[in-house]
Amino acid sequence: MYDPKSMKAEEFIDHQEILDTLAWAEEHKADAALIDEILARAEQRKGLSHRDASALLACELPDRVERMYQLARQIKQDFYGNRIVLFAPLYLSNYCVNGCVYCPYHAQNRHIPRKKLTQEDIVREVTALQNMGHKRLAIEAGEDPVHNPIEYILECINTIYGIHHRNGAIRRVNVNIAATTVENYRKLHDAGIGTYILFQETYHRESYLQLHPTGPKHDYAWHTEAMDRAMAGGIDDVGLGVLFGLERYKYEFAGLLMHAEHLEAVHGVGPHTISVPRIKHADDIDPSAFDNGIDDDTFAKLCALIRIAVPYTGMIISTRESQAVRERVLALGVSQISGGSRTTVGGYDEEIRPTDTEQFDVSDQRSLDEVIRWLMELGYIPSFCTACYREGRTGDRFMSLCKSGQIQNCCLPNALLTLEEFLQDYGSAETKKIGQALIRRELAHIPGDKVRALCQANLEKIAQGERDFRF
Ligand code: SAM
Repeated sequence: MYDPKSMKAEEFIDHQEILDTLAWAEEHKADAALIDEILARAEQRKGLSHRDASALLACELPDRVERMYQLARQIKQDFYGNRIVLFAPLYLSNYCVNGCVYCPYHAQNRHIPRKKLTQEDIVREVTALQNMGHKRLAIEAGEDPVHNPIEYILECINTIYGIHHRNGAIRRVNVNIAATTVENYRKLHDAGIGTYILFQETYHRESYLQLHPTGPKHDYAWHTEAMDRAMAGGIDDVGLGVLFGLERYKYEFAGLLMHAEHLEAVHGVGPHTISVPRIKHADDIDPSAFDNGIDDDTFAKLCALIRIAVPYTGMIISTRESQAVRERVLALGVSQISGGSRTTVGGYDEEIRPTDTEQFDVSDQRSLDEVIRWLMELGYIPSFCTACYREGRTGDRFMSLCKSGQIQNCCLPNALLTLEEFLQDYGSAETKKIGQALIRRELAHIPGDKVRALCQANLEKIAQGERDFRF
């Protein structure tokens, strides 16, 4: 029985409820009056239920689909302005005991070299990332209680936060590791992590069991209930995601929104972020072996509808996607992107991009400086801001900042300050020129007089060598 408040995976992601939702959406997809009524509700910017959002996803009426895109663009603009937050993944270890059939790190893969970063390696990798200008990392690891126990992950986090190279510092470490216990989530929380990210991969239980035939990840309930344990362990900000291509996207979309509704119903706060990875070629992985790949148009529609259905949730896109696809979905709702990424274990400090231990092929291979310049040329403000989490604005405190409309007085100046730091310390001459003109223009858009004046004063201090101001 479907119950968003239940703590049991099979009740808050109820298979029958998803099937009923999809059937209802299919039945009403050409009902223009109903679609208009749902769109009118969506315009209130309070989100949509999985049922309503699924009807929009099924709808193919061209003018209504165009309205969905327009609304997604507007909501994106209202809630996030033109800021885009930057991060990079850091692969700690590809040792893994699981059998995920889409991932090259699966335990049966005998020819991929297995690597695990030592603390000395981490210093080299993070120094290289700091030299690019990164301030936020997402650490990634396979699941292996012997090679990658929680103590190893905690030691890595501690090392990362301790590295200060010239003006560099990693100010937020997000963590993408396998589902674990409340006790371990508490340890991650105490280590000062930002968001805990765990992709569901698929919400379809039967497919999940086949796609994860062996290892602890085989346990669907353990995996699906992980965010509740993370929250019980004190982690306020959790990041959801589906690996698109594994199952039918309409099923996944409904499941993802039901998961968000569950978190809201039980913990009073929805997911902090949603990631939208699509399956990619990798060492022994051929994406065409999976039947449910989605084309770029469907992908764009999904991103737009996630933006409309959960307006307060950040949306993340990685370098799995090409420059062209990234450009398209940035306008429709994506608020965070990675840049200059390497998906190998080690390799940030090497001149030539290594591919031996890559988790997936990287489509967007530009440097961080190139990504920053490109964003600015498209009219976006690249941001390295980490202020909310460092000021304790996590979970519902972050959500209330979004809802209060004060975000322009907080996020905009923080974006400008952290962009100025990037330009001063890491930007090429051309990027710096474009960036400083952008900062001058954008300063005028800070609504509060006091905040604007203080931001301007702090920008001058940054030019003189001071760092790390925030609102
Ligand atoms: N091992 C951890 C777990 O089980 O959740 C998390 C880290 S894993 C390194 C990060 C994510 O990469 C996975 O959750 C999966 O969705 C994604 N991934 C795995 N294989 C992929 C592929 N071939 N193409 C694209 N993404 C992939």
